[in-house]
Amino acid sequence: MSKGPIRREVALAGQHVRRKVILALILCSVIPLLLLTYAFHAPVREFLDPLAGLVDGVSIPALVVFTALLMAGGAFIVWDIATALSRAAQISSEQNPDLAAQPHRKDEIGTLMSSFQRMLATIEQQSREINEFPRRLDQLIREAFRDALTGLPNRALFMDRLSHALIRAERGGGNLAVLFLDLDRFKILNDTLGREVGDRLLVEVAHRLAACLSPEDTVARLGGDEFALLLEDTSDLGAAGALAQRVSAELQRPFVVDGRDVLISASIGVALTGGGSMQPEEVLRNADLAMYQAKAEGRARYELYEPGLSVSTRERLDLQADLRTAGARQELSLRYQPVVSLANIRPVEIEALVRWDHRRRGALLPADFIGLSEETGLIVPIGQWILREACRQARAWQGEPSGVPPLVVSVNLSAGQFERDALPGEVAAILGETGLEPRRLQLEISEAVLMRDDPRTFGRLEALRAIGVRLAIDDFGTGYASLSYLKRLPVDCLKIDRSLVKGVGYETEDAAIIRAVATLARSLGITVTAEGVETHAQLVQLREVGCDQGQGYFFARPVSGDRVPELLASLGADDRHGSPSWLG
Ligand code: C2E
Ligand code: CA
Ligand code: CA
Repeated sequence: MSKGPIRREVALAGQHVRRKVILALILCSVIPLLLLTYAFHAPVREFLDPLAGLVDGVSIPALVVFTALLMAGGAFIVWDIATALSRAAQISSEQNPDLAAQPHRKDEIGTLMSSFQRMLATIEQQSREINEFPRRLDQLIREAFRDALTGLPNRALFMDRLSHALIRAERGGGNLAVLFLDLDRFKILNDTLGREVGDRLLVEVAHRLAACLSPEDTVARLGGDEFALLLEDTSDLGAAGALAQRVSAELQRPFVVDGRDVLISASIGVALTGGGSMQPEEVLRNADLAMYQAKAEGRARYELYEPGLSVSTRERLDLQADLRTAGARQELSLRYQPVVSLANIRPVEIEALVRWDHRRRGALLPADFIGLSEETGLIVPIGQWILREACRQARAWQGEPSGVPPLVVSVNLSAGQFERDALPGEVAAILGETGLEPRRLQLEISEAVLMRDDPRTFGRLEALRAIGVRLAIDDFGTGYASLSYLKRLPVDCLKIDRSLVKGVGYETEDAAIIRAVATLARSLGITVTAEGVETHAQLVQLREVGCDQGQGYFFARPVSGDRVPELLASLGADDRHGSPSWLG
C-alpha cells in the first residue's frame, strides 16, 4: 500500500482526539444514567399518570433504540482511535522514515509516535554499542600499540617490551641487543615510485624482518622507514652482528612490486646491553648512533655501537692536537676532480677535495678527519683555508698560458661551516682577496645538512646566493630529502650520490629514480650531476635518463693542482685536443 493514503488516514484519525475521547466518555456515562432512570421510573410514571398509556407504549422501545445508538456512537469513536493507533504503530514498526520525520505533527498521536520511535532507536543503539564494545576495545588497543600499515608493534610497544626485557636481563644477568634499521634512500623511492608502492615495500620489509627473528624476539616499526629489532638473551655482539648480516642480506634480495624488481638496502646500527642498568631510551639511542655510523660508512651495512672500541680517546686526542697544527705545518692539501658535461665529456667544473698528509700516519682522507674537525670547531679555520686555496688556484689556472677554460671550482662546506652566520661575509672577502668571480665558485652542501630541521636554512642559502656564487646539493638521494623539498631550495645544481648511481647500467630501479629526479630538476632549472661514474654502461644510461653532468673515476680521479691543466687538456677542455680518444 502506498504511504500517502495511510498517512492521510492517520492524520485524520488523529485530529481532535481529546474531544473524541471526552465525547466517548460522556456517551459511556449517559448509558448508566439512562439505565438508572429506567430503573427508577415509577415515581415518574406516577407523575405522568394521565399519559400512562402512551408512555408505556413508547418509552421502552425508545430507550432501547436510544441506548443502542449511544453505544454504537461510543464504540465507533473508540474503534476509530484504536485503528489510528494501530496504524501508527504498524507504520513506525516499518520504520517509515517519512513519518518519523514529520516534525509538523503536533497532536497526541504525533507526540506518542515520536517518543516511541526515539525510545526504540535508543534501545537499538545501546544494544549495538554493547555488542560492539569488545571489538572496539580490541581496535583501540591495536591502534595504541600497533603500526596501522604493517601490523607490527609500534614505538610505544617496543619501548615497553624493551624496558621489561632490560629488567629481566638485569635480574638474570643476561644481555640483550637492539638493532636500529633505516632503509637507504627510501624517501626518494617513495617519491618516484609512488606512495602506494612505498607502502607495499614497507609491508614486505616488515614480513622479511619478522621472518628473520624467533618468536620471542620483537620487530617494531618506529615510524617512516625506521624499524627496530629486540633480541633477548643474546650472548654477545657476534650473535647480534650475525643477525644484522642476515637481515641485511634478506633485504637486499629484490622486491617484486608491480612486476618490477625494486632493490633496496638498509643501514643497521647494533647496540648491546651488558652489565649495569640501562634505560630503554639509552639503548635505542646507541643503536641509532651506530646506524648513522653505518650510513656514513657508505650504507647497506651494519655498525656495532662500541663507545670504547672505534677510536680510543687517547688516539682521538692525539689526532686533534695534530689537526690544530696541520695547517701551520702545511700538511693539508687539495686534490681536484673534474666534472664533465655528459653530452661531450668536456670538463665544466672541478671539485676541490681535501687531503691531510699526516707526518706519521701518511695520507688521510676527509673521512678520517673532517668529523673530528667538526667536533672540535677546527673546521672553521680549516674550511677557510680550503676555500681560499681553491679560489686562489682557480684564479691562477685562468691566467695559465695552457688555455684552461674558465671552469667553476666547487668547494665542499660541512655543517659547522654552513651554519655560521659569518660565512657569507667570509666567502665574499675571500673572493675579493683572490680575484675570482663569484659565478666561478660553487659551494656544495650535503643533503643531510640541508634536511636538518632548521628554519634558518633558506635564509643562509639566500645569503650565499646573494653574493653571486652557485649552490649545489651534495650527496642527493641518500635518504633524507624528498623531491617536494627540492622545489623549495634555491640551488643551481644537484649532485646525485654515488650509492644511487652505482645501480645504473644494470637492471635496477635506480635509473628510473634518477630519471624522475632529473626531470623534476630540469623543470626547476637545476643542473644534475651524477657522482661516482665508474663505467661506460653507467655513462650511457645516465645520459639516457637526463643527467647533465658526471663525475667519477671513469672520467678522472682526483689529482693535485699542478696536474690539473694536463688532465683538463686530455679531457678536451682545450679544443685543440678534441674529444678524449679513450671514449671511442
Ligand atoms: P663528496 O663531496 O661526495 O666527494 C666525492 C668523493 O667521492 C671523493 O672522496 C672522491 O674521491 C670520491 N669519488 C669520486 N669519483 C669516484 C668514483 O668514481 N668512485 C668512487 N668509489 N669514489 C669516487 P673523498 O675525497 O674521499 O671525499 C669524501 C668526502 O669528504 C666528500 O664526499 C666530502 O663530503 C668530504 N670532503 C672532501 N673534501 C672536503 C672539503 O674540502 N671540505 C669538506 N667539508 N668536506 C670535504
Ligand atoms: Ca662534494
Ligand atoms: Ca657527493
